[in-house]
Amino acid sequence: MSVDRGHVIVTGGAGYIGSHACKALSAAGFVPVAFDNLSTGWAQAVKYGPLEIGDLMDRARLDAVFAKYRPVAVMHFAALSLVGESMQFPGRYWRENVTGALNLIEAALRTDCKDFIFSSTCATFGDHDGVTLTEETEQRPINAYGGSKKAIEEMLRDFAESDGLGHVIFRYFNVAGADPECEIGELHRPETHLIPIVIEATQGKRESVAVFGDDYPTPDGTCIRDYVHVVDLVNAHIAGLEWRLAGKENRAFNLGTGHGYSVREVIDTVKRVTNAPLTVQQAPRRAGDASYLVSGSQRAIEELTWRPLRSSLETIVEDAYQWHQSGISDQWLAEGRDPSGRT
Ligand code: UDP
Repeated sequence: MSVDRGHVIVTGGAGYIGSHACKALSAAGFVPVAFDNLSTGWAQAVKYGPLEIGDLMDRARLDAVFAKYRPVAVMHFAALSLVGESMQFPGRYWRENVTGALNLIEAALRTDCKDFIFSSTCATFGDHDGVTLTEETEQRPINAYGGSKKAIEEMLRDFAESDGLGHVIFRYFNVAGADPECEIGELHRPETHLIPIVIEATQGKRESVAVFGDDYPTPDGTCIRDYVHVVDLVNAHIAGLEWRLAGKENRAFNLGTGHGYSVREVIDTVKRVTNAPLTVQQAPRRAGDASYLVSGSQRAIEELTWRPLRSSLETIVEDAYQWHQSGISDQWLAEGRDPSGRT
């Protein structure tokens, strides 16, 4: 589709989820403007609209970008998002995530942009001992990452009251997989996420995979997570944007599949898909990890008519593996985050 339905500012648009959101926005007729400081993203991932290099701490830069594009909406992905790191450096998480979102909201409101799609997380719920998490579950985070995202959810509700800020909140479970057309995919340095780590180990890029904890109250003792394909996830964001543009209410949605897989089951699936040898080692628990995070996503399925069509664990791993085998991520790594040298 090539209809111009206006600009959407996508913070973190050079990152993993943000770049897939840009592709989906472009397919839906919007022009995605990636706003990114390239601290963890890659300029090469920005293919579907302009890249504006900038930092959420820089209010003047935000104002300039909003004035330039007069966006119809904002999708906010840029954030520090690692559970383990957030336990080590909580100050960074509280400062950068919360202040960044505040600066962004205020910049949007200054140009009368009042539709905000927010990337939140299942980490806002904390540990509920094997209970499936719905939108009604109490949010009691157990790490600074989840705490900072919960604070932003509350901030959005306050600005909705004071300034009429329209918003849709998506609480992601574990996002994985890659664009099936293999134009973009996941590339973190350092990589901390389970599926890419296991794939890299099957490719001989790592010696082994460490399983963090085997004494959790789960059937095989390892943590259980609900994995959702990045393409399904960003399609929900498009549905959320349409929801807001149609003038519907502010709403929060969980995004997962309702199926949980243990760390060991994920490792077994990667082994099966790649048919490659793998060394697995037992390691201590990682601080801040909940034992069981599985989503009840009925609300998104019913109200947004969302269908997580690519989110079987097999398909997620197949798409991720195709991306890792394509050599594109190796090329990005060789080129650096910004081959044109702007940063
Ligand atoms: N995990 C692991 N080894 C690794 C990376 C992750 O055992 O090298 C575990 C981690 O402790 C968690 C699950 O895999 O229980 C998913 O972790 P990930 O970092 O992918 O996502 P998170 O759940 O933290 O968002």
